[in-house]
Amino acid sequence: MAVRITDLCISCDACLDECPTSSIVDDDDNPTGEEYYYVHPETCSECVGDHDSPACQAACPTEGCIVWDLPYDEENRAHFEGNPLYKIEDNADNNQPHRKEISMEDRKAGNVESVIE
Ligand code: SF4
Ligand code: SF4
Repeated sequence: MAVRITDLCISCDACLDECPTSSIVDDDDNPTGEEYYYVHPETCSECVGDHDSPACQAACPTEGCIVWDLPYDEENRAHFEGNPLYKIEDNADNNQPHRKEISMEDRKAGNVESVIE
């Protein structure tokens, strides 16, 4: 992981079929109960190996809607578990690839700085 879809999402569906890891679900299936699309951080690969940048962001018409988040790995597990922004699958234990060129500072989810350009 990962990227995060914020409440700027207009549920337009443009990103859903673009995800190579099927990590995006629509508002009906958002496990947090919010009425916008959701990225499962435990499976998002940041499109490493599939695209040069996150395909969901490239498809999204809403400026600032999709932001960088922390990598979903052992070091950052506490950021995701117990956080109402996420609903992590019970037995998720895999560490997905992430883009090492994106600094941890730029990954502070929700900050203006974390918007994917
Ligand atoms: S960054 Fe790539 S793998 Fe992650 S949710 Fe977006 S399209 Fe899917
Ligand atoms: S493309 Fe953007 S606005 Fe449309 S559903 Fe996906 S995240 Fe939401």
